[in-house]
Amino acid sequence: MAVRPIVMADQPILRQKAEPVARITPALRRLIDDMVETMRAAEGIGLAAPQVGESLRVIVVEVPEDEEVPGSGVLYVVINPEIVEASPEIVEGVEGCLSIPGWYGWVPRARSVTVRGLNRDGRRVRIRAEGLVARVFQHEIDHLDGILFPDRITDPTRIWRVQPAREAVPEPVPADVSPRSRH
Ligand code: ZN
Repeated sequence: MAVRPIVMADQPILRQKAEPVARITPALRRLIDDMVETMRAAEGIGLAAPQVGESLRVIVVEVPEDEEVPGSGVLYVVINPEIVEASPEIVEGVEGCLSIPGWYGWVPRARSVTVRGLNRDGRRVRIRAEGLVARVFQHEIDHLDGILFPDRITDPTRIWRVQPAREAVPEPVPADVSPRSRH
């Protein structure tokens, strides 16, 4: 396993539609292991393959265990993920992105989704997610279609930059903004 460099938002690969995975090979499993290690090293809660430079439809999601967050404390690896159902109820929540360091915004997402795809062994999986975990799935699947979270924000007052702590005086931010909202 290895931590890979994270691709920044100005790179074209993050604007491409990623290719479906045709076969689960040892190289693909290495990619998945590296994605998990890279996500954890960056203290992210999700990562999509294009963020480590591979234009393939693979995502990993892992929200740290919290008894108030359904689906937390579980590592999800999904190959060729698809949202097959989404709740009509839309909720706003704070998101960040490992490819857009320092920026956060209020992003509207479906409150719950059902995701279908393959796990790392090539078996079909169907995951019903709600709340934060559903949000992360939607954020990561967007990456596979070249969509970044600021694209989902129409009101420019709903997105802001957090200055690094050592620089000047930090801007006031909502209390619920933490590095744990980076995907
Ligand atoms: Zn992201």
